[in-house]
Amino acid sequence: MADDDYMALLNRAKEVLPETIENHERFELPELDILQEGKTTVFRNFIDVTDKLRRDPQHLLQFLLRELGTPGNVEGRRAVFKAKISTSSINEKISVYTETYVICSECGLPDTKMVKEDRTLILECEACGARRSINVRKASKSDAQNVLRVGDTVDILISEVGKKGDGVGKHLDYAVVVPGSTKGNTVHIKITNISGKTAFGMITVERSDK
Ligand SMILES: [Zn+2]
Repeated sequence: MADDDYMALLNRAKEVLPETIENHERFELPELDILQEGKTTVFRNFIDVTDKLRRDPQHLLQFLLRELGTPGNVEGRRAVFKAKISTSSINEKISVYTETYVICSECGLPDTKMVKEDRTLILECEACGARRSINVRKASKSDAQNVLRVGDTVDILISEVGKKGDGVGKHLDYAVVVPGSTKGNTVHIKITNISGKTAFGMITVERSDK
């Protein structure tokens, strides 16, 4: 078959495809435009994302701040986080947000709105009419277990000594720097500061397990 014939056939096949297939394409967000500037992270097309999701920028911002455990705010069309946060963690949180607050679980479309009934948040789909309650706790509980927050207290084994002589231990996927700790000891600490995947802790109780 000549190439021209093949192309003609392909084009004709495309024309006869039912339109509904196109309408049910997977919902895609604009690619996140994120830049790390020193100790801050700038999410440059934040408002493009909230426009596409049709959600209040403040609602998404508060969700991200809570989930990422960082302060931050909206500046113009950008969101600025006061910590170094990887693009992949932001991507992941936005997927959780989209699944929780935007996508209709019946038809998979994002044409939904949030309505409050009594004290329950309901996701109402404008495309198929389905309604479901928004189960916030479920989505954030598993995440909460993997996120450290300032003020958390944890027991941690000091397994290394950092460049500046401070003890360093691992907790979840964070490196936790604990000034005044000794390698090999388990310390009970309170998290005082978090920057990306590095956390800082203050000893509240030191136990020498070894
Ligand atoms: Zn629907």
